[in-house]
Amino acid sequence: SEQTLGRLAEESWGRFDDHDAVFYEGVWHRSHVLAERARRMCGGFVEAGIRPGDRVVVMMATSPEVPLIYQALWAAGAVVTPVVFLVGAEELRHILLDSGASAIVTSPELVETVRAAAADIPIYVDTDELERAPERGPVARDPGDLAALMYTGGTTGKAKGVMLSHRGLWKVAKDVWDTSHQEGKSRALLPVPLSHAYGLIISVASMHATEPQQAVLMRRFEPEAFLRLAAEQRVQFGTVVPTMIQLLLAEPLESHPLPDLSYLTCGAAPLGRDVLEEFERRMPGVRILEGYGLTETSAVTTFNPPDGRKAGSVGLPLPGYTITIRDGDGEAVEMGDVGEVCVSGDSLMLGYWGEHEPDPEGTALVGGELRTGDIGCLDDDGYLYIVDRKKDLIIRGGFNVFPRDVEDALNRHPDVVVSGVVGRPEPRIGEEVVAFVQLRQGASVTAEELIEWARERVGRVKYPREVRFVDSVPVTSVLKLDRKALRARL
Ligand code: ATP
Repeated sequence: SEQTLGRLAEESWGRFDDHDAVFYEGVWHRSHVLAERARRMCGGFVEAGIRPGDRVVVMMATSPEVPLIYQALWAAGAVVTPVVFLVGAEELRHILLDSGASAIVTSPELVETVRAAAADIPIYVDTDELERAPERGPVARDPGDLAALMYTGGTTGKAKGVMLSHRGLWKVAKDVWDTSHQEGKSRALLPVPLSHAYGLIISVASMHATEPQQAVLMRRFEPEAFLRLAAEQRVQFGTVVPTMIQLLLAEPLESHPLPDLSYLTCGAAPLGRDVLEEFERRMPGVRILEGYGLTETSAVTTFNPPDGRKAGSVGLPLPGYTITIRDGDGEAVEMGDVGEVCVSGDSLMLGYWGEHEPDPEGTALVGGELRTGDIGCLDDDGYLYIVDRKKDLIIRGGFNVFPRDVEDALNRHPDVVVSGVVGRPEPRIGEEVVAFVQLRQGASVTAEELIEWARERVGRVKYPREVRFVDSVPVTSVLKLDRKALRARL
């Protein structure tokens, strides 16, 4: 039956015998200690006056406390509003005002930014104060109530609050667990930030565990540390984004065998098929299972099941979701044709939050269906393939150029770590294709050679006319290519 996340958290706390549950910066934390802390934190939030429906901002880098704070807030009936620890005071102020937050939980190193943004609401620095309260169980909530308000779109304009319900998050997390969980695989390496929808859903999915789970958290992804931790802690699976795989390929993978690791789930941005294949060739025994989703779909929409993976595809819709591919007029296209990916189902957002009230107008929901802005197609078996984002399309001399095709070709060059392709306004032809390229250490390839390499692979229309070398390609907090930052450099 349908669940609220507060009750789900309560049921999960202490479900198993006391065990090592979370590893962070050299220390394992025991499950029963964490459960008691979460119950106390729930008591602390209630004592502090947090009431059902109140929005509480959580702005912290990854730490063992973050999932506990989420769970304690859900148990107290509050709406979790995660904010990436990297945002500045101005963006934070926008989120605080827009959400009408009642309180903010942060960590000591961020307190200055927080004070500059939030003059008039309580600020909890770490959780010591909250944890002095007596333990408390969950307050009553309805599955249709708001569970999380997630700010997205910051890279394209003012961030909008995506309203996600208990029902939606519960269902997606359950479906992800049911589709991906492999018996006996309980030790995970989690380098993705917990403040993003992808990381949040991991925190929820862990509450569905049918066997004791062990999470190895990373504050920040670094390829060397990833490989070291994976080996030392003998992790069995992990969650990554494509940039992480790309960065791992620049490491001597052959000298870091990971016999315990069986799969990595990957999503949030496009993963080149060659990248997947190279990784699996150089890391025998490890499979990459790609998924796809948006904040607006409670993080995950499609996923490749371990026993039915198709490389290059982002997988099958989760049980509660239906995907329709539509053309520019909103008509469903023929099977196999390319168009906009549209999603309907139980776990879609309730809408965008507007001026402290739900905003029914300002949504991308059309007749209960979400227009994702992504271009893709379905195959005969119902697997989804993502071509690119509508808004990233470059139109050069009347021809469509999907930056992803050009990036995939450049990334295949042995000297390239990662590339990012954007359009530069050019009066005569509309836009010109420009590539930013990060090279491997000691690489000697020239811009002209890379241009030629790309031309041979993507043809005379799409190839980049300019290649600029950069020390690192700019990425967002979840390590997605930051095209806005690239365009700004032009
Ligand atoms: P912002 O907050 O800056 O708007 P965003 O648009 O990336 O970020 P998210 O909800 O974080 O918003 O990400 C959703 C988008 O990520 C999707 O619309 C899609 O473009 C992209 N994406 C997610 N998974 C995949 C995947 N497996 N392959 C290709 N693209 C993906």
